[in-house]
Amino acid sequence: MRVEFTIIFSLLILILTVCTISSMHSKKIIGKSVAFLVCSIIPPVIGNLIIICSTDRFPSMVGYYIYFLGMDAVMYALLRFTLRYCRITRPNKIVQFTIDALLIIDVIQYSFNPVFTHAFDTEPVMFEGNLYFRLIPKLGQTYHRILDYGIFAFIFFVFLIKTIRSIKIYAERYLIMLIAMVVACVWETFYIFSGTPIDRSMIGFAIFGILTYFFALYYRPLKLLDRMLAGMASELPEALYFFDSSGLCIWANDRGIKLADITDDDYALAESQLKDMFGEFDLKTEEWSTEKKLITGTDTVKYYLLEKHTIPYSERKIVGSFLSIRDNTEEQLALQKEKYNATHDVLTGLYTKEHLYECIAQELQKENDKNYAIVYTNVNNFKMINDIFGNDFGDRVLIEIAQRIRATMSEGCIYGRIAGDIFGMCMPVDEFDDAALEESLGHFTVSNGHISHNVLIHIGVYFIPDRSIDISVMFDRARIAISGIKNDYQIYMAYYDDKMREQVLWDQHISSQLSDAIATRQIRPYLQPIVDSSGKPIGAEALSRWIHPTDGFLSPARFIPVLEHNGMIAEVDKYMWKCACEILAKWKKEGREQFISVNISPKDFYFMDVVGVIKNLVEKYEIEPSRLRIEITETVMMDDPENKIAIINEFKKAGFIVEMDDFGSGYSSLNMLQDMPVDLIKIDMGFLNKSEFDEKGQKILHNILNMTRDLGIISLTEGVETTEQYSMLLSMGCRLFQGYHFAKPMPLEELEEWFDRV
Ligand code: C2E
Ligand code: CA
Ligand code: CA
Repeated sequence: MRVEFTIIFSLLILILTVCTISSMHSKKIIGKSVAFLVCSIIPPVIGNLIIICSTDRFPSMVGYYIYFLGMDAVMYALLRFTLRYCRITRPNKIVQFTIDALLIIDVIQYSFNPVFTHAFDTEPVMFEGNLYFRLIPKLGQTYHRILDYGIFAFIFFVFLIKTIRSIKIYAERYLIMLIAMVVACVWETFYIFSGTPIDRSMIGFAIFGILTYFFALYYRPLKLLDRMLAGMASELPEALYFFDSSGLCIWANDRGIKLADITDDDYALAESQLKDMFGEFDLKTEEWSTEKKLITGTDTVKYYLLEKHTIPYSERKIVGSFLSIRDNTEEQLALQKEKYNATHDVLTGLYTKEHLYECIAQELQKENDKNYAIVYTNVNNFKMINDIFGNDFGDRVLIEIAQRIRATMSEGCIYGRIAGDIFGMCMPVDEFDDAALEESLGHFTVSNGHISHNVLIHIGVYFIPDRSIDISVMFDRARIAISGIKNDYQIYMAYYDDKMREQVLWDQHISSQLSDAIATRQIRPYLQPIVDSSGKPIGAEALSRWIHPTDGFLSPARFIPVLEHNGMIAEVDKYMWKCACEILAKWKKEGREQFISVNISPKDFYFMDVVGVIKNLVEKYEIEPSRLRIEITETVMMDDPENKIAIINEFKKAGFIVEMDDFGSGYSSLNMLQDMPVDLIKIDMGFLNKSEFDEKGQKILHNILNMTRDLGIISLTEGVETTEQYSMLLSMGCRLFQGYHFAKPMPLEELEEWFDRV
């Protein structure tokens, strides 16, 4: 018997020692408390072992002391452990103090036992032929027992309350401790009441220590974890399905159960149900994700994101896998809406410019032998529609155009709104129907119930010869196509041709070289004499010429319209005015009395303070303002006449002579002459068609001349080419002339020579 117990106790001491060391190294917060508790159990176990092994009274007494005092230490440690384990962060200080004090009293009273023998004594007994020393408990021992049992009962009670009060899955951790305590307690009690001389009660405590070590540090309440994970998984927005390593569905969260319509927790159904819904998918491949679109019974579209993940066990083996299915319909719809908004014009619902270009580019990248046409439409006077009828009406017009485009375009057409009132289309040439386009878009009436307006649209068409051309260039060309019919109210559609392209290239060529041409005097004034009725030269008009290093001699017709179009004419004009002033300054020195007329382009008024600039020039060159005559065309004067009258008056106030150029070439009314405070009008012979310079033309000319005379305005006829014209004009009373009949425009030196000669 003794040998067996010795082995058992030694083993227990060993295990307890290992547990102590292990729990001391544990990273868990409770590790230290566990180590203290387990360690505290070792001395009483040793004490117990000594008691069992003692064949003499003295060692047995020592064993009993170690045992009882050790038990006090166990109670002390157990109390500390319990506070930690039950997470009692603010224990009742009085209770704790009282228990500690009572334990100290116990230790003290034991220390007097060798003197008074009031706590216990031992007596030899024979048991199964061996000598043992049995305990004879006394009063002190009763105190010790009541104290230790009391503390034990108190702790038991704490665990009991914790077990009862906690929800089931949490109660487990307390229940386990309760059971361990019961084991220890029953064992101890059994010994006390069994009356056997061999005290082995510490086995129960040793087991309690080992159980505590295990439960406190290593036991994981799996059920609790399960519940928690399941709870968390059910909170997730995804439907989740877990598969074991063989691919069988073993669990699904609530969403998963609902989505796959799993009944009676028959998770095995999930795979087939899901495959019915989403089509075949593969559970073998480790990781994948895919998007699926489902159309449900009520025709509503739903989008799902399916993701499969594998849970590895080791490098080769897997624990299982799971499939998550997320309903991302909302995100998809939001994304689609965002995409739609980014690619569609809000007002008309047509493609935006960027998207239109992108779609056309994609279409043109297709490998087919189709030919394509680009169509560009522009509403005539759209600004005016907005200004006069308001933006709402303007919007209405645009919506109407969009509707008409939609209705006219066939399947293979791509169309969109490029900007403001500009729409663009691209279509295979065999789907291009010019008549239908013109019919639908050329002109139509828009009405809002109160206002009706006739909308006119110009349609430019460009047949794409080479798909590699930039889309924006294609639209540019279709736009250029309508530049020729801009002011035409009868023609709605125009086609781009190579001449237009050349014109555009020429425009660019000219514009890019202008500044340089002025700086290097490639552009210079030619002067055409102006004579009086006796043929005496009284002045000259400055007309620009461009002597281009590669293109040669350029007449203004080659470059003035281009520059007038893009506004760069202002640069030329300023330069010409300066040249004229330089010449006049020179003439002033030389004693010449002639004047020079300079041309003012309509665009000049946009880009500068014309009067200010010219005034500065005459001041700078110190010339009489009357020597620099100002030619403003009749059409310019017609545009915003009030403003022009003010400008003319300003010029006149400063001493300049203002001429109305190209009189009769525009749509002017003769009444205008009355209002425009000009000093002189230049009648262009050109406006009276030369071949028809018949009686009718002569009559008109005659009347104009009479009227100007009556109004006190001097008239000058330009474009006089023949002696007949000259003598006829003389007879009609015209006094000033300019034209090839007298001289062509020429460089300054030639003009001066000509002046001296005539
Ligand atoms: P314009 O101001 O009406 O100038 C008169 C034009 O008639 C000049 O053409 C002149 O050469 C031409 N001409 C003169 N006599 C005759 C004739 O007997 N028969 C014919 N058929 N034509 C004659 P040019 O120099 O080619 O200039 C054309 C137009 O270009 C000018 O018309 C003027 O409007 C504009 N222009 C020329 N130089 C300048 C300039 O420096 N600045 C601006 N803004 N315009 C200019
Ligand atoms: Ca002129
Ligand atoms: Ca003229």
